[in-house]
Amino acid sequence: MLIQNVHQLIGHTPLIDLPIAVPNDSHIYAKLEMFNPGGSIKDRLGAYLIQDGYQRGIINDQTTIIEPTAGNTGIGLALATQPHHLRTILVVPEKFSAEKQTLMQALGAELVHTPSELGIKGAIAKAESLAATIDNSYVPMQFKNPANPAAYYQTLAPELTADLTQPIDAFVAGAGSGGTFAGIAKYLQQQNPAIQTVVVEPAGSILNGGPAHAHRTEGIGVEFIPPFFKDLTIDQTLTISDADAFAQVRHLARDHGLFVGSSSGAALAASLKLAAKLPAHSTIVTIFPDSSERYLSQKIYEK
Ligand code: PMP
Repeated sequence: MLIQNVHQLIGHTPLIDLPIAVPNDSHIYAKLEMFNPGGSIKDRLGAYLIQDGYQRGIINDQTTIIEPTAGNTGIGLALATQPHHLRTILVVPEKFSAEKQTLMQALGAELVHTPSELGIKGAIAKAESLAATIDNSYVPMQFKNPANPAAYYQTLAPELTADLTQPIDAFVAGAGSGGTFAGIAKYLQQQNPAIQTVVVEPAGSILNGGPAHAHRTEGIGVEFIPPFFKDLTIDQTLTISDADAFAQVRHLARDHGLFVGSSSGAALAASLKLAAKLPAHSTIVTIFPDSSERYLSQKIYEK
């Protein structure tokens, strides 16, 4: 395959029919988003947000891009702003993985840290206050920009239906900003109104009404209900412990050669729980957002 630049490698990632034992002889298909050039699902979002900003006339070649991020959106944005040489400032709570922070800087972005205990809300507030001090700056603000779910509605969701000949019975995905889940769920519900849609959150996230607390599963979990979930039918929210998510990460590496991140482990744990309750021979689709190579310092592989 001859390519002109890495941006051409965004999207059209493989969908794996996981070679694992699934309850009720069902199949779990996982979209392997680690195969995007920046290593995660958020390369799609970075490209989409920058293109959308230019198209709407909000971004020009002198604009400074500022975004609060747990890391993967930052990597996606840093990649997307490179061809335009846009100054890119990413606001990241300190706790997120060192590998992701190094990668953002390697791509030329500037990092601003916020205290871990202020969570993503602290990073959002800092990004907004920075933007107020920098002329011609733009905060795409993945946490409320409708372009976020639209990116997945338009790119990833149609790839799923194109790769499968049978209808999709259930869709399972984690939520951080909620963009991935909302965009894909909406598209798949339009294709099959009977589909079951299931959000995955780590213990410590608030969707199921549990108490908010820190968790080690990175990239998913919310501190507020994503605005994209308004008017969206969500059939279930499954809460997965860090231990269960990490156990699936280890299982996928050891037995199937798949190095996925902890949010992928949570997605698999939830898909298996769901499969036990669905009719036999169901088709379950889930998303594996990134690779565990960017979390090695968090020692997922050490029990
Ligand atoms: N998994 C990982 C590893 C992520 O970085 C993110 C984004 N923070 C997600 C899942 C959740 O994606 P979304 O923000 O679209 O809900």
